[in-house]
Amino acid sequence: MTIVARRGTATPTGEIMSLWAIPSLNEANRRASELKIPDKMLIGSEWCDAADGRRIDVVNPFTESTLGSIPRGGEQDVRRAVKAARKSFEAGSWSQLSGRERGQRLSRVADLIRLEQEYFALIECIDNGKPVQESQWAALIAAEVFEYYGGWADKYHGEVVPLKHRHYNMVVHEPVGVIGAIVPWNFPTIQATQNIVPALAMGNSVVLKPAEECSLAALKLGELCLEAGIPDGVVNIVTGLGEEAGAALCQARGVDAVIFTGSTRTGRSVMQAASGTLKRLSLGCSGKSPDLIFQDADLEAAVDNAFAGMFYNQGEVCNSSSRLLVHESLYTEVVTMLTARAGQLRLGDPLDKTTEMGCLVSQEQLDQNLQYIDIGVKEGAVLAAGGRRREGRGYFLEPTVFIDVVPETRIFQEEIFGPVLTVTPFRDDDDAVALANNSDYGLAAGLWTRDVKRAQDVASRLQAGTVWVNMFGYLDIASPWTGYKQSGTGTAWGRNALDFVTVPKSIWYAR
Ligand code: NAD
Repeated sequence: MTIVARRGTATPTGEIMSLWAIPSLNEANRRASELKIPDKMLIGSEWCDAADGRRIDVVNPFTESTLGSIPRGGEQDVRRAVKAARKSFEAGSWSQLSGRERGQRLSRVADLIRLEQEYFALIECIDNGKPVQESQWAALIAAEVFEYYGGWADKYHGEVVPLKHRHYNMVVHEPVGVIGAIVPWNFPTIQATQNIVPALAMGNSVVLKPAEECSLAALKLGELCLEAGIPDGVVNIVTGLGEEAGAALCQARGVDAVIFTGSTRTGRSVMQAASGTLKRLSLGCSGKSPDLIFQDADLEAAVDNAFAGMFYNQGEVCNSSSRLLVHESLYTEVVTMLTARAGQLRLGDPLDKTTEMGCLVSQEQLDQNLQYIDIGVKEGAVLAAGGRRREGRGYFLEPTVFIDVVPETRIFQEEIFGPVLTVTPFRDDDDAVALANNSDYGLAAGLWTRDVKRAQDVASRLQAGTVWVNMFGYLDIASPWTGYKQSGTGTAWGRNALDFVTVPKSIWYAR
């Protein structure tokens, strides 16, 4: 997801916490080299290794060297974590606490996260490869999520339902129990936060499985949760591979629900694994989001935003504007503007504040992107910019623009998840909507027009969970985030996320 955050954010007492200032490159390197790299996972109150002692190397995608290693948790570790979560849930140390008290502790976590802005900013650079200009927001946004749902903890109350009978019917929102949270690597701090905090606010216990590529920020969050007074066993974190620890979590009997964010391909495996125990499932999956530039658009703004919407976070964003659809009258001009911008984007050391695009998260991710570029060329699309790995160290890929892309191709249809844009012309509004909806995905879409009637008409016809009109990529924790079609089955963010982590229990009283 592209996150656009405000500068400065309010603490519970109303004071504005300013954004961490990025130091010089030398100083950033020095501070990054002194960071404590977590090397244990959290089960109950214990920071521990995997039962069988196996480990996964943590690789810095810029230096390609090993930063440290984390436990490669497996089925046995997941079983232990689920047991710890179940025990805490049943003991009521969190689940039976008043909503207000839970909210206060979540706010305390928010304060601690803000104090660690530098840690989260630097760790995301060296673990994930994103530029520090972008990672500097991670802590403030995560803190906002803790505070927002902390605020809901005593407000998501039930109701008394008027019946056709004379009896009373009371509906109370109870926590579901133990929730497994599985997250991807592209926004390590925010994704982990997003998938556990609504559950915690409502009194659930959680077992979090971060992505094996980027687990460090999640482990730091676990530490801060304990420090803020969230009781032992309420937040458990099992690091490990998806097909091992992730799959075990989906199958575990003691897990009542799974909140998954990741690819549609993995989402299908999660569904299958969870079917044996019929778990509640919330899946937030892949995207291939269209951005439509109509003939009456503010062209400069449309191209600037389409470009940022595509190349922000190296294009490793579920809702990146990866399919640009342009009215035929503007097509040549838009292509010229885009290719000029692609040539100017500054790739570099993620810790350098002048870097505009960092490197991809792993060699595997880089290879996958290069394969798609080959496929695009073979499919007959025109490579107008980029297309190559950057020379030297680091998993860098040049910002890549394919033009004249037709909808029958794989590069138009499949999520590449990297800095690879496709551009396609359209004739009229109907053609634009048909092209936009010609996808298995339906996460987000943007459209650019000065005509309000066109905006309303097109927005209502687009099959996308989020539609941005004359803007792209904005998110706010208060606004729901969901998808059509194979982009998922769940809704994150906003009040809507609370439905999934609660059971509306109906209690009748005879009168
Ligand atoms: P992924 O599907 O490979 O992995 C996501 C998580 O699932 C990881 O923690 C991984 O270890 C785990 N996993 C892998 N195999 C598993 C299995 N068999 N059982 C259980 N868990 C398993 O995705 P990724 O490469 O980490 O992230 C990129 C994908 O995430 C993209 O498709 C992107 O669009 C999507 N994404 C979606 C959203 C959204 O809000 N819809 C947000 C961010 C990313």
